Amino acid sequence: MSYEINDLKEMFDGTLPWYKVKEIMSRPKDDDRFDKYIQILQERVSWPERILMPLGEHLYIVQKGGERIVKCDCGHEFGDWRKNWKLESLIYSRDDAKKLGEIYPGIRCPDPKLNEVREYYCPGCAALLKVESVPVGYPIIFDALPDIDAFYREWLGRPLPDEKKFEFKDLSPEVTKGWGRE
Ligand SMILES: [Zn+2]
Repeated sequence: MSYEINDLKEMFDGTLPWYKVKEIMSRPKDDDRFDKYIQILQERVSWPERILMPLGEHLYIVQKGGERIVKCDCGHEFGDWRKNWKLESLIYSRDDAKKLGEIYPGIRCPDPKLNEVREYYCPGCAALLKVESVPVGYPIIFDALPDIDAFYREWLGRPLPDEKKFEFKDLSPEVTKGWGRE
């Protein structure tokens, strides 16, 4: 089963009429939804690298030469997808009452001794990519480390040609280790 790509485009944009959205939601997921979604996303970015997987608003995991990297729709590249892209972003931490009060005015303001709100921005286009609200000093959260090879092999049934090349593990400690040497 399959839907018209234009219907899916409108659904992702939130402009498809509700009766059509409901119809799509009520049925089993169409077999080629992932491929069509990738096709729609690929048409909308200005760079040529193949999108392997969307990673959230503005961000994608793409194939670039022999690498798989996180890339913003503006073109900014964050590096290997196994390293938390947030470590390469611009971080604004709301860690005092004034900064928190801009978001949570008055009585709703959390106690800055207990809580901080971190905003992660793209160094290329300044888009707000993610917000996290955490206890003070909490490690930067690695939102998603998808096993791309397992997804292509086991869910789509067509393994990526270079799947043997990438050990599936969190490489973020390499980034922070590098900071220690600087
Ligand atoms: Zn960007």
